[in-house]
Amino acid sequence: MRKQLFAAILVLLASPAWAEWHERTDAIMGTRIYVELWGEDSAKTEAAIDAVMDDMRRIDQLMSHYKPESQLSQINARAAQEPVQVDPELFDLIKLSTHYSIITEGAFDITYASVGHLYDYPHHVKPTEAQIKAALPGVNWRNMLLDEANHSVRFEHQGMRIDLGGIGKGYAVDHGIGILQARGFQHALVTAGGDSRIIGDRMGRPWVIGIRNPDDKNQVVTRIPIVNSAMSTSGDYERFFDEGGVRYHHIIDPRTGHSASKVRSATILGPTATETDGMSKTAFVLGAEKALEIINRMPQYDAIFVTPDGKVLYSNGLAPPDEKPKPDAKAPAKH
Ligand code: ADP
Ligand code: MG
Repeated sequence: MRKQLFAAILVLLASPAWAEWHERTDAIMGTRIYVELWGEDSAKTEAAIDAVMDDMRRIDQLMSHYKPESQLSQINARAAQEPVQVDPELFDLIKLSTHYSIITEGAFDITYASVGHLYDYPHHVKPTEAQIKAALPGVNWRNMLLDEANHSVRFEHQGMRIDLGGIGKGYAVDHGIGILQARGFQHALVTAGGDSRIIGDRMGRPWVIGIRNPDDKNQVVTRIPIVNSAMSTSGDYERFFDEGGVRYHHIIDPRTGHSASKVRSATILGPTATETDGMSKTAFVLGAEKALEIINRMPQYDAIFVTPDGKVLYSNGLAPPDEKPKPDAKAPAKH
């Protein structure tokens, strides 16, 4: 009996740590990064989370427009004078962002920053109409020359700037998921600010992600169960200030240089976070009606909007049962 107990203890000690959920929160890219994954080996799982966080820091060093030494800042400093060569990874993301500009007819445009940099939300600074008018010609992705052979970027207009704030976090999330998949993990969530991607389920149950009330961060307007999907939300409550009854916030309509105001938040669900991140700005700028018309034609995407009067609108794939067309109640019963 004693021998058996001793053997059982030995087996317990020799077996790897219990499979369990591991999670970590960090602050990178000026936002909250959260990683949660199911791991059978505690050391390997923690090492995988380290690798995801390190990769987020690497991407931030490369692409941040807040860091003067980043390659992206080098583009902004010099590309109006000469072609600026950058790493293929940064070049490819800039190129991808122009693809989004094409398919959104310019609603998504990283050169929005030519006007966008005139806003300083924490200090309640906004450009005058004259400043917007002067800067607006710099907003046009077509004036960005991309040389594929040299991985270089050149601006054809003085005063042009770019920033990848509208797609970089989604890209970093997809990269993080790629790192976890390469290490064999099958159940994970990676979040960077408003951009998330999920692989697998939560052991037989979906992950549930809440969409917050634009006016109260402690309240959700709806909850969405998701598995194997990415999801991005753009809201007018992330970086903003109010003045004279107008909300000045960080999602800019490239056509006007003003903050877009058709919705309070736009959420997109789709296969990758790079896609959903790019599309959430587009949906925000276009507004619910136009964006739903487009998204309802694309089966791989879904959308949820919170409108200025507090309504929650869903794309067809997510419509709650009570909003789906009902069978006619007065129709005669069949015998
Ligand atoms: P988060 O930064 O939390 O991921 P969003 O995904 O909504 O929030 O991205 C907002 C950012 O997108 C802005 O801070 C800005 O950097 C960028 N941006 C704003 N308007 C546009 C636009 N029309 N096209 C491309 N990028 C934009
Ligand atoms: Mg985002």
